Amino acid sequence: MRIPSNRLNDVLKFAKSELSPFYDEKEILSFYYLLCEHYLHLNKTKVILNADLALSESELLKFNFAIKDLKTEKPIQYILGETEFCDLQFKVNEHTLIPRPETEELVYWILEKENKTAPLHILDIGTGSGCIPISLATHWPLAKIKGIDISAEALDLAKFNNKCFNTAVQFEQIDILNPPASFDFMLDIIVSNPPYVLESEKTLMKKNVLSYEPALALFVKDDDPLLFYKKIIHFADNQLISGGRLYFEINENLGIQLIALLKAYSYKQIELKNDIHEKARMICAIKN
Ligand code: GLN
Repeated sequence: MRIPSNRLNDVLKFAKSELSPFYDEKEILSFYYLLCEHYLHLNKTKVILNADLALSESELLKFNFAIKDLKTEKPIQYILGETEFCDLQFKVNEHTLIPRPETEELVYWILEKENKTAPLHILDIGTGSGCIPISLATHWPLAKIKGIDISAEALDLAKFNNKCFNTAVQFEQIDILNPPASFDFMLDIIVSNPPYVLESEKTLMKKNVLSYEPALALFVKDDDPLLFYKKIIHFADNQLISGGRLYFEINENLGIQLIALLKAYSYKQIELKNDIHEKARMICAIKN
């Protein structure tokens, strides 16, 4: 099936008829407005006021392809190749997780708790698209910020985003499960949103996440759910200054276990924070 005419309103009708087996009406409308913004540079009001607008053949083709992709439950962020995070438009692709609202909350929590005029050294572990360090850098020009990831493809994208926003974050390919013996500088802050979804939780996840987002960035084995946190705390032993802070995004079911681990390593002022859905999603702790 193809879009019946080149009028914007017919594009909407077509999107509704093609996508209604997969999504509810509200979701379809939000996809439609995002596609109009992206391909036609029209905001929602303009789209509503210009229902009769005639699209070019190439614009129609873009809508056709996007609707076809949406039918496979490909995330709209991968179709558009970008998404908004902390008020910035980040490029994303299938080598990186789609930045989530809960991760924005983590960034805003750091910005709220820390002194953004201090020239601190910050490391983001498992940086993906670079959304955490780049967002921090835009609010914190004096900080020296680095992002590391095991994935060379993710780092290419992070570097691209870094250029787009004119931020000076450094990126390096490092596997935190096998970190180098020495790191280039001592850190005031380590932040990480590592893989924390248990393999057994896969059954609860939607197809759009399971089929398209990188498993490498999401999953840990059930028998060692805190693997990444343990490695990071171990790395922090040598690399985080005394009084330095750890900020983690966490699996809502693992907060208590992680607090016990941090206490065992003598971390103090451990704070667990809920996200907007009232799930225990973030943790901050100070090294002794
Ligand atoms: N919050 C992500 C999700 O639920 C998981 C992110 C992660 O594993 N670090 O899909």
